Amino acid sequence: MVSREVQAHDTVVRFGNAAIGGNKFAVIAGPCSVESEEQLLSVAEVVKQHGAVALRGGAYKPRTSPYDFQGMGVEGLKLLKLANEQLNIPTVSEVMDVSQVDTMCEYVDCLQIGARNMQNYALLKAVGESQKPVLLKRGLSATIEELLLAAEYIYDAGNPNIILCERGIRTYETATRNTLDLNAVAYLKQRTHLPVVVDPSHGTGVRELVIPLSRAAAAVGADGIIVESHLKPCEALSDGHQALTGPMFEQLMQELKPFVEAA
Ligand code: PEP
Ligand code: MN
Repeated sequence: MVSREVQAHDTVVRFGNAAIGGNKFAVIAGPCSVESEEQLLSVAEVVKQHGAVALRGGAYKPRTSPYDFQGMGVEGLKLLKLANEQLNIPTVSEVMDVSQVDTMCEYVDCLQIGARNMQNYALLKAVGESQKPVLLKRGLSATIEELLLAAEYIYDAGNPNIILCERGIRTYETATRNTLDLNAVAYLKQRTHLPVVVDPSHGTGVRELVIPLSRAAAAVGADGIIVESHLKPCEALSDGHQALTGPMFEQLMQELKPFVEAA
């Protein structure tokens, strides 16, 4: 169902006033984790001011170590709702478990399936039964075919509002956190009608590489990016090393202008 052979025209996924897919390059931005009201609202204001169409922020965090910050949970979801209401910006947040789906649907506008859950089929079915848009990230070691079949689970369960996300894969390379597979973006744009976004933050793991890889994502034909941003990255509770500062986010948007403003 997600194949171009079934549907030739591009799917545009809408939530709030955001539209992902079509001619405009969409930028989704915000912190890795929701940490406090002040942290979330201050960065949300900056990214919105510079043209982000949606705010990201994790309330449930899939951390490699159980001793690392696990997210604020429902309190974090409430802050996302607050940001949405105060700034009129739709929100994206990761759902980690079937038991969280209903609650998350009350508070956020788009459900993110993280890389570690791309093949959690019970979760894919559950978000498929909801009607919320889903941002589906490619698994750490998933093939493109496996990503498309994961999307098929969501579609088959009744939800066609799916955004695919290339967020870097595991390779032998250790200089960067992951290897951003831009082949996948060009390939996916031919194979499927679903919108494809790139996550250069997790794709590189290095703040200084986020802007160049964002430009590359736009050049290769992605429908947008999802990037991490934090006004005080050195104080971030997760992924501070890959977060764009406020001035860097402004710089990013300046460089993406021709794509963001395309009619
Ligand atoms: C995230 O978006 O913060 C995240 C955990 O991403 P991924 O699932 O791609 O690692
Ligand atoms: Mn992160």
